[in-house]
Amino acid sequence: MILRENIRASLANDPDLWRDFAALCDFGGRLSGGEGERQALAFLRERGAQASGVPCRAVAVPYQGWRARQARLMLADGSAAPCHPLVRSVATSAAGLAAEVVDLGRGTPEEFAAHREELAGRIALVRHELMFAAGTIHRRRKVMMAREAGAVGFLIAGPLPGACVAGSSGRDGAEGIPAAGIAPETAARLARSRAGWPRVTLVIDAEEGAAETETLLFDIPGRTDEWVVLSAHVDGHDLAESAIDNATGVAAALAVTRAVAKHIAPLRRGLRLAFFSVEEWALIGSAQYVAGLNERERDAIALNVNLDSVAGGTSLTAMTSGFAGIEPLLIDVAATNGRALRCVRPLMMNSDHGNFAMAGIPAFRLVAGYDDPLANTRFVLTPSDTRDKVPLAELAAAAELSAAVIMAACDAGEAEARKWRARAHAG
Ligand SMILES: [Zn+2]
Repeated sequence: MILRENIRASLANDPDLWRDFAALCDFGGRLSGGEGERQALAFLRERGAQASGVPCRAVAVPYQGWRARQARLMLADGSAAPCHPLVRSVATSAAGLAAEVVDLGRGTPEEFAAHREELAGRIALVRHELMFAAGTIHRRRKVMMAREAGAVGFLIAGPLPGACVAGSSGRDGAEGIPAAGIAPETAARLARSRAGWPRVTLVIDAEEGAAETETLLFDIPGRTDEWVVLSAHVDGHDLAESAIDNATGVAAALAVTRAVAKHIAPLRRGLRLAFFSVEEWALIGSAQYVAGLNERERDAIALNVNLDSVAGGTSLTAMTSGFAGIEPLLIDVAATNGRALRCVRPLMMNSDHGNFAMAGIPAFRLVAGYDDPLANTRFVLTPSDTRDKVPLAELAAAAELSAAVIMAACDAGEAEARKWRARAHAG
């Protein structure tokens, strides 16, 4: 289905696409529990209602809150190095965690296995990887391997000179080890020497307690009670503006909704716009949303289109989460509308689409710059994830392709939509 000319034109001439994007960046990194997240959600209640023409339905999302008060890393020579606590890192004692550091390079399973005997009672040091690439080993897995080997702390070195890296500690429940991001120069100073493994003192002072955020939903009904869910996460990290990740996805979702809202009623399926939070905290918002659906509601969702980091690279990729059945639709829509789109099939739990896919709902994540080491998406989770890394043309291209997919998915017949639920054989 070719995107109707009036929809394409209204998207191409939508000044609010950049305005919304900049407004979200203005709220700062939007770390869950902070003022920026609160302001962004208030902004989106209003903007979502304006874009969709329907009232906002806000669903409370209780979670275990966390806030870092202070973090310090002292090296053996007494100097301090910059560090950034990973989200939900457990705190150290007030005196800090004093231990030796074992540098595991990238932090592959092979490196962890080879150093297995040396990690107990020490701090594991690994490298942050290009996130959107085949073969990337997620930070969560590295933390897990460190803990299994008895490590008492976790340091991850970022890719940018002079800059720390952020991220989630991957902690689940009460268990965990203190974890922080550091700069590459600091990692270089933590090399093993003739004197042995270098010793550091890591201090993380954090407070925890019950917290609550929300999921914002806007339902534009179609002819039946079936839905296509267009989602994006609002929250980010407090190192910068979280511009690519994910002001791009939120602004694009608003623009798509604005452009198609008036055209949904005659189509088979309705459009549900969903803004999730605490995504950076183990995908909590979307996990609660999907868990709260009964079987009938789950079956009624034909497709989840999740926009996360959709500009900051010239190429667009759909991570199809094992749902081979949705790839013909995506490839056809992209080709019809003159856009290049690559499909990458393995399920990656790196954004909210993962929770939909795990529940059997066809889902994909649209992402820019996949497998492109020079794309600006390499700045995600660093202080350089700022608005200047996002060309308007890339944001507009992602919005246009998303609108075309939404229109086609809302309009598709029952038999075609049934094919989307087909998954690839898992070996
Ligand atoms: Zn994201």
